[in-house]
Amino acid sequence: MGAGMTDAPTPAPGAPLRLFNSLTRQLEDFRPVHPGEARVYSCGPTVYNYQHIGNMRAYVFADTLGRTLVFKGYALRHIINITDVGHLTSDADAGDDKMEKAAASQGKSAWDIAAFYTAEFKRDLARLGVRDPAKWTVATDYVPRMIAFAQRIADAHCYQLDSGLYFDVSTVADYGRLARAVTDEGEGRIDEVEGKRHAADFAIWRRTPPGETRQMEWDSPWGRGAPGWHLECSVMGEAELGLPFDIHTGGIDHREIHHPNEIAQNQAWRGCGGLDCAEHSGARMWMHNNFLIARNDQGRGGKMSKSAGEFLRLQTLVDRGYHPLAYRLMCLQAHYRSELEFSWEGLGAALTRLKRLVMAAAAVREAEAVPVTDRRLADLLARFDAAVSDDLNTPIALTLIEEAAAMKKVDAGQKRTLLERMDGVLGLDLLTLSREALRVRPKGATIDETAIEATLARRKEARAARDFAASDALRDELGAAGVEVMDGDPLGWDWRLES
Ligand code: AMP
Ligand code: ZN
Repeated sequence: MGAGMTDAPTPAPGAPLRLFNSLTRQLEDFRPVHPGEARVYSCGPTVYNYQHIGNMRAYVFADTLGRTLVFKGYALRHIINITDVGHLTSDADAGDDKMEKAAASQGKSAWDIAAFYTAEFKRDLARLGVRDPAKWTVATDYVPRMIAFAQRIADAHCYQLDSGLYFDVSTVADYGRLARAVTDEGEGRIDEVEGKRHAADFAIWRRTPPGETRQMEWDSPWGRGAPGWHLECSVMGEAELGLPFDIHTGGIDHREIHHPNEIAQNQAWRGCGGLDCAEHSGARMWMHNNFLIARNDQGRGGKMSKSAGEFLRLQTLVDRGYHPLAYRLMCLQAHYRSELEFSWEGLGAALTRLKRLVMAAAAVREAEAVPVTDRRLADLLARFDAAVSDDLNTPIALTLIEEAAAMKKVDAGQKRTLLERMDGVLGLDLLTLSREALRVRPKGATIDETAIEATLARRKEARAARDFAASDALRDELGAAGVEVMDGDPLGWDWRLES
C-alpha cells in the first residue's frame, strides 16, 4: 500500500466484528464513525534506539487489526507516528530527553539519530509483514499544530510553571478511567515537579531550562522548548484522522499514563464531555496488546524492555537462523491480550509450523485463483471469519488455516483463494515465501553446504544399508561442525545450522 492511500473495500463476510475496548473493559461491536471506513491510530516508537521484539509485538498486533478490518470490508486508514522529539525517561515530566541524550552519547545530531532508528524500525516492520500505514506521522512535522492545539485548551485546562505548561487533570471528567486506578502508587511513578497542582498533572510544553539549548526546540507562547509526548499523539491523531476516530492502539503500558493523558487532552479539545460516552475520549475504542515477557537468568519473567534483561532485536533472531515471519507466527499463536513468553524453543516450534504452511501453500501456488464454491472450504472460511471477528482470535485462526492447508482432494484454485484470503489477515506471506528463504543462515556460519549435503548423502546410504554405527558417526561429525541433523523435519530438509 502506498503512502496516503487507503485499501479498497471488499465485501464484508458475515460475522459481526467484536473488539475489546479497554476504556469500557468490554467486548463491543465495531461501529465505524464514518460508514465503511476504519480509522486507526497506533502509537509509534521513540526513535532513539532500536526497537526490541516486545515493541514489535505491538505493531504485529496493530497490523493484524488493520488486516482484519480490511478483511471485514472496511477502507482502512491507519496512522503510525514516529516520535522523533522529546519523550523523557518512561512517563516522567522531568529529566533527560531520550533523543538528545542518545545524540550526545553517540556524537551525532538528534536528527541523524532519528533518521537512523526510523529506518531500522521500518526495515523490521517490513520483514515482519507489517504493512505500511497510510501515513507515517513524524512528530517534528506537527509542532506548529501542537502549539495551536495547546493554545486552544490552555486557558481552561492548563497552568504555567517555570519548567513549562502543565495540564490540570482535575479540569476534565473521569480522569484516569482508562487506567482504572489512579492510585498514589500510580501517580508516584510520575516525577514530582515543583509547583504541580496534582501529581498526575503532566507537561504539554517543556520549556528549555535557562542557559541550555536543545538541538530540537521551538518558540512558543510558553517559552522556547519542546512539546510533551502526550500532546504529540493527540495532535497527530486529530490532524490525520479527525476526532473522534475509530480505534487507538498501543501496548498495555500506555493504558496507565500516556493514553489517559491523551484522552484528557482530547476531552479538552472536544468540549469536555465525560467518558461514559466513548467518543469524548477522541477514539471510540482503545485497544492494547499485552507484553512480551522474557525470563532472566534466575528464571523470573518480566516485560521485555530496553533497560531490563536481554535486548532482543529482530536482527538477533535472524542472526541465530530464524526467519522473521517465524516471530510473527509466534505472536499470532497467543491472543493479543495475553502475555506471551519468549523462548528460543517456542520460536523454533513457530518456525516448524511456518514451514508446514509454506509447503502446503507451495502446492497450490501455481494454480489460478478461482472463487470458493466447495462447501467444505466455504465453511472453513466462515469459521475463520468468526474467529478473527471475535476480538482477533488469531490462535484459532492459525489452526483453521492449517486445516485449510491440509485439506486433500479439493480444487487447487479454490484452495489457493482460501489460503490467500486467510493469509491476508495473518500476514505470513504464504503464497510467495519460498522454502529456501525460510532457511536462514546464522550469522558467522562458515559451513559449506555442498560438503554437508555430501555427508548427508553418505549417511542416507549408511542408513539404507542398516549400518547405524556409520550413520551415527556421520551425524556426530556434522554435529561437531554445528549442523543439526533433523530426521523427520516437515519440509524434508534434513539439517539446520545450530544457533
Ligand atoms: P516505546 O518505544 O517504548 O513507546 O514502545 C513502542 C510500543 O511497544 C508501545 O506501544 C509499547 O506499549 C510497546 N511495548 C513496549 N514494551 C513491550 C513489550 N515487552 N511487549 C509488548 N509491547 C511492548
Ligand atoms: Zn501515543
